[in-house]
Amino acid sequence: MSIPTTASGNRGLQLEQKLIFEQDTAGMTAVDLPTVPKVTSRLGDMENKQAVGLPGLSEPDVVRHYTRLSQKNYSIDSGFYPLGSCTMKHNPRLNEKMARLPGFADIHPFQPLSTVQGALELIDTCAHWLKTLTGMSAVAMSPAAGAHGELCGLMCIKSAHEANGQGHRKIVLVPESAHGTNPATAALCGYAVEAIPANAEGRVDVAALKQHLRPEIAAVMITNPNTCGLFERDCIAIAEAVHAAGAYFYMDGANYNAIVARLRIADLGVDAMHINLHKTFSTPHGGGGPGAGPTVLSEKLAPFAPVPMVIKAGKGFDAEEIAGHGAAKQSYGRMKGYHGQFGVFVRAVSYMMAMGVDGLRQASGDAVLNANYLLARLSEEMTPAFEGPCMHEAVFDDRFLRGTNVTTLDIAKALIDEGVHPPTMYFPLVVHGALLMEPTETESKATLDQFIVSMLHLARKAKSGTADAEFKAAPLLAPRRRLDETKAARKPILRWLPDPADNGQSNGQSSGQSNGQNKGAQQAAE
Ligand SMILES: *Cc1c(COP(=O)(O)O)cnc(C)c1O
Repeated sequence: MSIPTTASGNRGLQLEQKLIFEQDTAGMTAVDLPTVPKVTSRLGDMENKQAVGLPGLSEPDVVRHYTRLSQKNYSIDSGFYPLGSCTMKHNPRLNEKMARLPGFADIHPFQPLSTVQGALELIDTCAHWLKTLTGMSAVAMSPAAGAHGELCGLMCIKSAHEANGQGHRKIVLVPESAHGTNPATAALCGYAVEAIPANAEGRVDVAALKQHLRPEIAAVMITNPNTCGLFERDCIAIAEAVHAAGAYFYMDGANYNAIVARLRIADLGVDAMHINLHKTFSTPHGGGGPGAGPTVLSEKLAPFAPVPMVIKAGKGFDAEEIAGHGAAKQSYGRMKGYHGQFGVFVRAVSYMMAMGVDGLRQASGDAVLNANYLLARLSEEMTPAFEGPCMHEAVFDDRFLRGTNVTTLDIAKALIDEGVHPPTMYFPLVVHGALLMEPTETESKATLDQFIVSMLHLARKAKSGTADAEFKAAPLLAPRRRLDETKAARKPILRWLPDPADNGQSNGQSSGQSNGQNKGAQQAAE
């Protein structure tokens, strides 16, 4: 039986809904506001005579609107989310409870420091854990994401080169498997980017890297474990060669989840590395809350760290807020308001303390074990991109689809019908038709087994050649099918405008009919 079309456009209990502005009923309101007292306006002809254009809805309409929107949003709280490179692990509720304690939640960054000593101590505690786990001398706490941490690290490197009369170094080396933020960060910092090839094993080609080293090189950025889910075994040799050439070694630490509490980054000769608290330390990602990308620094780079810096003062804590002053004498400046994402620090410290170093060590071990379980089981039908075991993520190429009409994209879309968020696809770029899966340590064997059943089923179905039309049409069961993602990214329509045909009402409100602009939004969404 095929899927029926419905009169309402609704599918089961998944309801189609208009934009909130299109649900407007003039005069409807969810709140009773007091009558506006009579005042003499002092705004003269500056006074706004137009309606503000807010839609009128009842309270049940508003509640249903936002509840339905939240249900359209797939999240780690709703199911398995094997997105590679992103470490979508469970966000423990204990962390949330700690972040909501009034002593943390109800303070303001402009309070006198004497009244927020506990908050400063918490930042210092988080910094202490990060420095101890990595063996690094210092940590800049304020970067607000991994990419922001990369920027912080490269700004420190740039400042150090300038302070040492090495300002002519204008090139940063980045492996071709790198996350897009690496070359983007280098470019934002004013550097030219040169790509280093990977070897057949999926690791940095050390000989090629050495050939690129010369007096113009400012830094080398390497992800470890890398985006192919493999440990870069030659880091110490790389660090030695990079340092001998007068450059700095930046490590992208977004994959720190695979090695935390097992390896001291300082022992690899790293000069700077960001840590995504929203990956390794279980704090929510993006829409679930802001992230944080504290950046650990070697002794050589520490003096250039951004302000503010929390510093021990007597029995308590002080903060150095001004670059060029005191402990921040050589600081390159400020990159974030206040101290960064304080609420995220509370969650990360809560996680660190709940886990302990032994717990963190078990987490990194279990993350690697889970990824290798997927790698081994899925190899029954799929083709691993590299030989041998992986670290915290498993990457497959599309050789298993050769000779079929099904692509990596089709498999990913069909997985949505199976009720699984698709893994990362077509990344890393060095793997043809890549599917990059990161289960993390927080998934049970039962969840992984269920995912394996779906994946193997789809791989067999693709190879059978009997379901090509179904694959091309997938997802068949989702509220939306295949979006024009390129158009949505290149021509985003971010603003709703009322229908000009509606101007008879001249109150800037809409009857709900789409004008040209909104039709565009509709098309982009479809
Ligand atoms: C996630 C990630 C980043 C960027 O981190 P954001 O917090 O998303 O800015 C950088 N590099 C790698 C390898 C990543 O996985």
